[in-house]
Amino acid sequence: MHNPAAEGNAFFVCDFCRNHFADDRPMVEGHKGSLICSHCLTVAYTALIHLGEGADLAGTGCTMCLEDRREAQWASPTHPDAHVCVRCIKQAAGVLCRDPDFGWKKPEPPPTGSKIIDDEDIDDEVV
Ligand SMILES: [Zn+2]
Ligand SMILES: [Zn+2]
Repeated sequence: MHNPAAEGNAFFVCDFCRNHFADDRPMVEGHKGSLICSHCLTVAYTALIHLGEGADLAGTGCTMCLEDRREAQWASPTHPDAHVCVRCIKQAAGVLCRDPDFGWKKPEPPPTGSKIIDDEDIDDEVV
């Protein structure tokens, strides 16, 4: 979102955490001036893409594309009115990670299996 009362970096405000633009907080713009910052994008990307989380918010439009997407969306923990669909997350991640100025990378999948597979199972696989 935009803050018409502010100028410069403070004019650009993330819809999801309400922090304004900074060198370490690049943003991707959606429709109607909606903005998601790199920090929220990291959280949303991990939740939706890697963990398969997200709420079914059918009937309410995605904050970024304004479309009523029948798929999981990530809602901001602090501003639940703001939520974003998987497609917008992928799109925004693609935009941000291609921009060398920001040095943002898509989040790695969280480590899995360490709790499920114990040492004995690993030994069995090796043998
Ligand atoms: Zn944010
Ligand atoms: Zn969307």
